[in-house]
Amino acid sequence: MPVESNARPGLGEPVESLPGIGPKRAELLAALGIRTVFDLLFYFPRDYQDRRAITPISELREGETATIQAEFVKARSIRLRGRNSLAEATLRDGSGEIKATWFGRGFLAKTFTPGTRGLFTGPVGKYGGPALKNPDYELLSGDEEDRLHTGRIVPIYRLTEGVSQRMLRRWVHTALERAFSESRGIATTGENSPPDSPAAEETPLDETLPAALRLRYGYPEINGAIRCAHFPEEVERAYQARDRFAYEELLGMQLGVLRARAARYHEATGLRHVTGGPVLKTFRKSLPFRLTSAQELAVSDVMSDLASARPMMRMLQGDVGCGKTIVALHAVAACGDSGYQTALMAPTEILAEQHYLGLREILLPLGIEVELLTAATTNAAARKRVHTGSCAVVVGTHALFQEKTEFHKLGLVIIDEQHRFGVLQRSALVEKGANPDVLHMTATPIPRTLAITLYGGMDITVIDELPPGRLPVITRWIPPAKQEGLYQYLCQQAERGLQTYFVCPLIEESDSRELTALTAHYAALSAGPLASLRTAMLHGRLPNEEKAQIMHRFKTGEIDVLFSTSVIEVGMDVPSATTMVIEDAAQFGLTQLHQLRGRVGRGTEQSYCFLLEKPKTPEGKRRIEILCNTCNGFEIAEEDLKLRGPGEFQGIRQAGLSDLRVADLLRDVRLLDHARRDAEEILRKDPDLSGNEYGTLARHARTFAALNP
Ligand code: ADP
Ligand code: MG
Repeated sequence: MPVESNARPGLGEPVESLPGIGPKRAELLAALGIRTVFDLLFYFPRDYQDRRAITPISELREGETATIQAEFVKARSIRLRGRNSLAEATLRDGSGEIKATWFGRGFLAKTFTPGTRGLFTGPVGKYGGPALKNPDYELLSGDEEDRLHTGRIVPIYRLTEGVSQRMLRRWVHTALERAFSESRGIATTGENSPPDSPAAEETPLDETLPAALRLRYGYPEINGAIRCAHFPEEVERAYQARDRFAYEELLGMQLGVLRARAARYHEATGLRHVTGGPVLKTFRKSLPFRLTSAQELAVSDVMSDLASARPMMRMLQGDVGCGKTIVALHAVAACGDSGYQTALMAPTEILAEQHYLGLREILLPLGIEVELLTAATTNAAARKRVHTGSCAVVVGTHALFQEKTEFHKLGLVIIDEQHRFGVLQRSALVEKGANPDVLHMTATPIPRTLAITLYGGMDITVIDELPPGRLPVITRWIPPAKQEGLYQYLCQQAERGLQTYFVCPLIEESDSRELTALTAHYAALSAGPLASLRTAMLHGRLPNEEKAQIMHRFKTGEIDVLFSTSVIEVGMDVPSATTMVIEDAAQFGLTQLHQLRGRVGRGTEQSYCFLLEKPKTPEGKRRIEILCNTCNGFEIAEEDLKLRGPGEFQGIRQAGLSDLRVADLLRDVRLLDHARRDAEEILRKDPDLSGNEYGTLARHARTFAALNP
């Protein structure tokens, strides 16, 4: 988030206005997002190092970690076996000498000029005698400036090539000096300043966090906080300062999200649907199973949304196979009772087709016509039926929001696997109705921290329960030596009428990637170990008719093993399919693997997921491990987030969350909770954020609101 400058003149100037920064360095800093003096002040350290205690070399003890201040006596690079090398240096201070070694970094030796002084922090190990092992080090210049880097707690920043800790520390320090000296004499009140706040004349930054909130959490006032965050007297205080800014950022974001939502609710008058009509009643009676209590709760959430004039904006979140579709069907039925059309949008043709077939089976007997609109099936006649309203339910893919598609009376929009659509695509469909109710569904559970941010503007319903009788899918990694056994197992399963999905990462062989190709594998296995079975192949490039036919044959049990690419990731719902085999499993992302696995375990038979091919990277290995250990989608999402970092998570960039400067969505769960609660409280009292104390927060809120339409 661009932190807007609330600073006095001078701080908004480019970094080049500081001594020692020319155009080249300014460019390097820009890569870190630092353009102005103000940015520099708000570039927070990622860590701190306590350099108050310097240990004389003569007092170093093996096994402890210490900081010494010493000069190089000599240094050399030593070649080791293989391509490795070692830098070895002798260091000296007034009390004695010690060796230091840097394994694998022989190239450093030539930068260690005898006589140069430096600070070295690291564990004391053995190398001949006692020696510092791979110490962090920083060279000193021997002048006044060294006082910035020694004998205190020093900040450690995230760096970029060409910018060292020392430089950044100096520049931040200069920026602080400029800020705090140039403002001298500007008198402001030190209301509620904690005792450690700077003198009243040193307040170059206007407070941006209301006093009541600072008091609530004991956060320092902004001017004290900014200095403390860089050059603290105690590390504790630095963290407190950092938390203050992280919290403030998250608060601005939550205010934005909540205000955008309030604005929408305020403006839009939606439809009041009938929720006790004959179609819904008949539908409920015809249900082939009892809903789980989580489903019942979800249905009642959805029904109260439909009945109210406020347009529904609900996210229905639940792991693969938890039964979201049936919940959505309640809404479809109610919408039918009210005489409105429903559009159900899915990201793939296969999924759309499955929904279409499923819905038709249930809705036709209730007298509700269903139409399918996909790139393949769409024609003028179908579009006309949608436009004239002769069908009440339209299932489709991206074709639904194209300009040519017009609805008669669109009253309900359901978006399945909503994360696969962009914000604009979703709203293009919604805008085809007059404030229709909207239900989003996703089987990619995301950690709560992200949910309240990403879906902050929606109401969230979580289905946290699977239909009864489901057994968790047992997941195993199968080493190459055991693959023959796996093929035998598939044959035995087929004899019992149980089916298998066999997923490969590619359709055809590729020169660039050594991966198992579907076509070749299908041919080889169908003619080899699986020759006695009925097999078929499915992928995105087949003509639609053929795809539909194959899926139909798999559903009706005419195919034992279906070879496929990841196109079956969503949409296949065949309870008698109990085995999922994934070739080159480490090629797939964690959530994708989880989705694929979700194709089995839909009936009451014990299902299995077998992952083939040894993972080649540590990350791939970790993914396989996680998958073998848990079937819980939320846990998997959490792990995925840790592996990939929030920036890679779908929707994060879009929502401007990767621009967070201080807050860390993984670490700051507690702060985010506080921010959410406080944002709600603030808006209850001051819905327009018109109070003076909210000036900066209100600006931040607007930035986020704009990113989350
Ligand atoms: P998802 O949430 O992944 O979209 P689906 O809606 O496709 O899950 O449901 C998965 C399967 O579970 C379907 O075959 C569906 O008919 C079945 N199902 C849903 N709810 C129940 C229930 N309460 N009891 C038994 N089976 C159910
Ligand atoms: Mg689904």
